Amino acid sequence: MNGEKPYDFVPFPEGRPDRKQGAGQDKLDARLLSGTLELTLHTLTPVHVGLGYSDFIKAGNQEYLAALQASKPIREDDTTRRRYLIPGSSIKGAVRSIVEAITRSCIRITQSKHRPYIPQGYGGCMSVNDLCIACRLFGAQDYQGHVSFEDAVAPKGSLVLMGTPLLWTPARGGRGLPPRYLERDRAKGRKFYRHARPPSGADPRACIKSGAELPLRIHFLNLSEAELGVLLTALGLHPDHPFPIKLGGGKPVGLGSVQVKCQRINLLQGADALKATGRLGQAHTPVGSDLDAFLVRCANAANALIDDDALGKLETILDKAGLQKTAPADPY
Ligand SMILES: [Zn+2]
Repeated sequence: MNGEKPYDFVPFPEGRPDRKQGAGQDKLDARLLSGTLELTLHTLTPVHVGLGYSDFIKAGNQEYLAALQASKPIREDDTTRRRYLIPGSSIKGAVRSIVEAITRSCIRITQSKHRPYIPQGYGGCMSVNDLCIACRLFGAQDYQGHVSFEDAVAPKGSLVLMGTPLLWTPARGGRGLPPRYLERDRAKGRKFYRHARPPSGADPRACIKSGAELPLRIHFLNLSEAELGVLLTALGLHPDHPFPIKLGGGKPVGLGSVQVKCQRINLLQGADALKATGRLGQAHTPVGSDLDAFLVRCANAANALIDDDALGKLETILDKAGLQKTAPADPY
């Protein structure tokens, strides 16, 4: 098939990564922002985060061997039920990738053979005194990071069995990156899949259905307004640059499109919170009616850390309009 590829690249920004010492998380810094984002994930296509194995699932009168959706037992009233969810780790990984792409953040390469293809200075951060924004927010070796993501648990009745096309792994050379990832012997940038409607296929997967609403809480500690703004932008919440994000498996075949909505931001006002309660995690200042104004303030502050071209390109790739087309079902 000669169709359009379901992905594109966000080129690496000009200039070296923006590195500095992390603010630390051992105590609340009164000059910085700490608190909780209360969000809702609206699934625009089914979302599949696999457990890495399959089992028989009954649908109608038939049983299918399907890739299972992540779940955990949750205690409700007097019983314990298994509930399907999108693991926090999976959401965190997706959001980190976006932060990396839109800021001057390092490239965490796992294979040294890929090193020659990345721009100079973009190797992974090596010292806790010298961390890029992605490593400061999400953590690096020996540095814990400033954000933590809870699991997003799906409401009852959210599971759906999807027949998805089989995924094909692009042919890889024994050495280095496949040519389609390169331009003039350099990596083209960071790869993101477009939004698309899922085509049907022969590979059954249990998914969280399209149209589900999952609450999500993200905790943050000691962030500047600009850093919180970068996190909000990567969630698709920048007022001028909104986009749905992609989560989980099956991205090339249209799974995992999610619109994040911000319901509330609870701020712990640094030293004020400590004075008021003597304890972290008690005094909340909800950003309620001022939520929009607060989002604008953080987004404006974040502009200093965000690469405009990279954000523009990512916005194009993650354009919601992609959902009007069906993803390629054949190898591309
Ligand atoms: Zn880094």
